[in-house]
Amino acid sequence: MTTSPAAPRPLQGHARAIVRALLVDGPRSRTDLATQLDLSAGSLTRLSKPLIEDGIINEQPSTEQPASIGRPSVPLAFNHTRYRFIGIKLTKTHAYAALTLADARIEQLLTRELPSTAPEDCIHIIANLVKTLSAASAVPPHAVGITLGGHVTNYRHVTHADHLDWNDVPLAQLVEQATSLPTVVANDIEAHTESTLWFGEGVGTQTFALFTLGAGIGYGLITHGQVVTNPEAGYSLLSHFPLESAQIRAYEDQLASTHKARAFDSGCGHYACATSMLTLFELEQRAAHTLGRPVSFQQLLALATAGDPQAQAIVDSSGYALGTMFAAITNLTLPQRIVVGGEACELASVARTAVLQGLHDHRDQRATDPEIRLQDPDLALWTRGAAVVAMHNTLVGRD
Ligand SMILES: [Zn+2]
Repeated sequence: MTTSPAAPRPLQGHARAIVRALLVDGPRSRTDLATQLDLSAGSLTRLSKPLIEDGIINEQPSTEQPASIGRPSVPLAFNHTRYRFIGIKLTKTHAYAALTLADARIEQLLTRELPSTAPEDCIHIIANLVKTLSAASAVPPHAVGITLGGHVTNYRHVTHADHLDWNDVPLAQLVEQATSLPTVVANDIEAHTESTLWFGEGVGTQTFALFTLGAGIGYGLITHGQVVTNPEAGYSLLSHFPLESAQIRAYEDQLASTHKARAFDSGCGHYACATSMLTLFELEQRAAHTLGRPVSFQQLLALATAGDPQAQAIVDSSGYALGTMFAAITNLTLPQRIVVGGEACELASVARTAVLQGLHDHRDQRATDPEIRLQDPDLALWTRGAAVVAMHNTLVGRD
């Protein structure tokens, strides 16, 4: 049983398809919309009438010339002034919260440090963020979305969240009790993939992969416009994907012996897996061991750009590994585009030459490169994914 205090009923059938099309693709003429959804003009009029009466969609002023023959076509549009959502992304240390429109445009963004990772402390912070953003909202928020790195069932229950050290936390229920707003919980990568598909760098293609590198490794796949997933995706299954090659070993040989020891000792027992080559902590550890002083990721990139040979070797080694990862993704799942996100995604641009070498060395020479697009590395923008799953589940509904 759900304890949702005011669970709105999501749309179904053709109503869902109409609203989704207008939300994702923007205002459309009735003719275009009827064609896209394979509906007759009469059916579209009948189906859209209650949605207009409810204020979910509205009619826009006609753009047709008065001289046009017959009844002027009145374009339909999603009513963006009607809805607001609150999206919250939890990390080990912070809660990022955004007030958004239904298409995940951010109106206000807040960040709070977590006093601890204890669920009650996190709920307290979340409730305060929801209260503050609700007070700032032009209309009462429709729902709250929360995302985190972990395994979530039924968009409500966190079974495991390693970074937060959580096991079996009924997060949606607890937040609903604290905020009186319907709440949706999701794995952060799954939600981020969805917002990338609907309103981000995935727009314009039906088949793309999202690869993120930061505190951890994330992977999402879209085929035919749908997120490919199952609950086990919450275990971050590409974290230890093997990326070792002769070229990686050659790069490692350029580095100090302390770093070589470090590469074999990244905590998981793998040499050159995705975690050891591409995560922020490991990159900074490798830089510190090699250069003999604490080095942040941004400092590492700056040193490499300035021509420091050891920093360059670290960045190129990881860049080559990233290209090898792209080759594996492209060979295995055949996406047209790879969207690269996460706090360390700038590696893809700073080490571009090494990335392309790693890609080409593991692809058929006749194969076309996937289009590679970089996201903004700001983690706070992942709040958009949390808002999108709240919108998807409580307004549009899922098939
Ligand atoms: Zn590993």
